[in-house]
Amino acid sequence: MEGNDKREKLKEFYLKIRDCEKCELSKVRTKFVFGSGSADAQIMFVGEAPGKNEDLQGLPFVGQAGKLLDELLYSIGFDRNEVFIANVLKCRPPGNRDPRIEEIDTCKGYLVEQIKIIDPKIICTLGRFSTQLLLGTNKGISNLRGKIFKIESHVVMPINHPAAVLYTPSKMGVLKEDFQKIKRLIDSGGEIPASEEDASYLKSETLNDKQDKDEQLGLF
Ligand code: URA
Repeated sequence: MEGNDKREKLKEFYLKIRDCEKCELSKVRTKFVFGSGSADAQIMFVGEAPGKNEDLQGLPFVGQAGKLLDELLYSIGFDRNEVFIANVLKCRPPGNRDPRIEEIDTCKGYLVEQIKIIDPKIICTLGRFSTQLLLGTNKGISNLRGKIFKIESHVVMPINHPAAVLYTPSKMGVLKEDFQKIKRLIDSGGEIPASEEDASYLKSETLNDKQDKDEQLGLF
């Protein structure tokens, strides 16, 4: 699909789902947070769920974690308008509690459709919830972050959630390194990275185990 077609499709999809009332979160939200950025992005970032600021503004990652995400994007030469940023849940869980399984199940189809329309080469999952959902695994983020997974036509790279890094500043160095790795991935067009280290990650960490595959979202 060409960029203009993607924009049209994404807009159409937004208009179709923005008044969603499929779960209880719709009753307590201020705004539905669809996601923002370029419909033609090569890279998509997927967080957990809107927080207070996002709920008020209707935009993803506009609070403190978003400020950090913007800085990290800038460090690799990107502006947020050049990527697409979305969340697993489109509505804020009260008090920023963790998303519930049934909420994720109800909402995940929206993320799947966004990924289908945008068709990014690289999907960077931020934190545990988006990582476990897109990789279909129960493994913890500390085991998965910085590794590269090839899922159908997409390269998926989990990283720590910026909010978790703000909470534990000792993780900042690792997050910055992971962004450099994202840059290498982008520079290689989302293909297998040139360095041996990355190539071996791909070989050892690709989810080609049948069970893991079956547990993936059936996304792509
Ligand atoms: N944290 C998220 O996971 N998503 C947002 O949009 C903001 C904070």
